[in-house]
Amino acid sequence: MTSQSALWVRAGAVPTEFVSATTRSEPAAFTQADLLIRAGRITAERTNEPQAAVRQLDASGCTVLPGFVDVHIHGSAGYDVMDASPTALAAIADFLVAHGVTAFVPTTMTAPHSNTLRAVAAVADYLPHQGHGARVIGVHLEGPYISPKFPGAQPATFIRPPNPAELTELLAAGPVRMITLAPEVAGAEALIRQARAHNVVVVLGHTNATYTECLQAMTWGVSQATHTYNAMSGLHHRNPGTLGAVLSQDELDAQLIADNIHVHPAGMKILARCKGNEHTLLITDAIRATGLPEGDYELGGQPVKVKAGECRLADGTLAGSILTMDQALRNFMAASGWTLAQAWPVTSRTAARALGVDAEIGTLAPGARGDLVLLDDQLQVVATVIGGEVAYLRDPARLSHL
Ligand SMILES: [Zn+2]
Repeated sequence: MTSQSALWVRAGAVPTEFVSATTRSEPAAFTQADLLIRAGRITAERTNEPQAAVRQLDASGCTVLPGFVDVHIHGSAGYDVMDASPTALAAIADFLVAHGVTAFVPTTMTAPHSNTLRAVAAVADYLPHQGHGARVIGVHLEGPYISPKFPGAQPATFIRPPNPAELTELLAAGPVRMITLAPEVAGAEALIRQARAHNVVVVLGHTNATYTECLQAMTWGVSQATHTYNAMSGLHHRNPGTLGAVLSQDELDAQLIADNIHVHPAGMKILARCKGNEHTLLITDAIRATGLPEGDYELGGQPVKVKAGECRLADGTLAGSILTMDQALRNFMAASGWTLAQAWPVTSRTAARALGVDAEIGTLAPGARGDLVLLDDQLQVVATVIGGEVAYLRDPARLSHL
């Protein structure tokens, strides 16, 4: 998908690090600048001269950031990744653009192998047919090789020991880029090494691992933690557990569900201080109820009730969220006290770096994909641009042709 014509994003406040040195006004964190996107990519031109055959997007009064990247999302708008259908993926992708998301990693549930295999294959089928929605950039397998002690909302019946033959089939079926697992279970080391050999990011999660077991797993290739604080062994000062490893080890990137429900704002602030913006990544863990009225839904074949913003199984267990990435950013900034200049990387750049695609997305550097989000001064989404195409626009008058 490339642009018919160039897109000139005018007069937005751009992080100063992406503005050429000649026009910088240090030490401000943001500098008013124009971006020109041609053939889907950000160019080095920081022109403010009118150009022929250019679409113009008025970004005045807005901050221009790299589009949001969500690496842990099960569904939205009535659809779930486990529906295993390109239609479901397209509907989720279309929903996400209104919330600033330009790329996401559809996330599977702990399920029978054949179901997960179908979900991964559906992503592979969908990839060549992506439309103007947020782009799918891989699959995240959440389980099934997790700890029965911390299932969270993953159906416990389908939790099982690491199975290299299953992983081989999943890798062959589609673009698996991440796997959440418990590193302390027997057979985890071999599976982690197998995943790393295929460039899959290995994520600690739904785990009862001790601090020492986490450090050992890092030597095998674990580099990230799933929804930090949730479904992992907690921090005791003489037994720091998985949480102690995540908060103390700089090399571990930490996912966070910043919905004020899964984690208290003070917990978010502690995480922000421990991990910094280089190692924090906001996720939604959103389920199919996201964007729809509260009521009765489903996750992993189990009934879920959505009430007062919370998604819960019948026994009260939290079951994903109805969070969106723009709301996550607002919540996280309020909890951490960070400015937008400090906070913006946690919605895009950290995730892009973790996946090794930070030259493509999570950046506004020349050569990167033209994936942007424009936010107003209340951090509400004004526009979302994907590959130089305007995928969402709150106020149509901002777009014009020269
Ligand atoms: Zn999840």
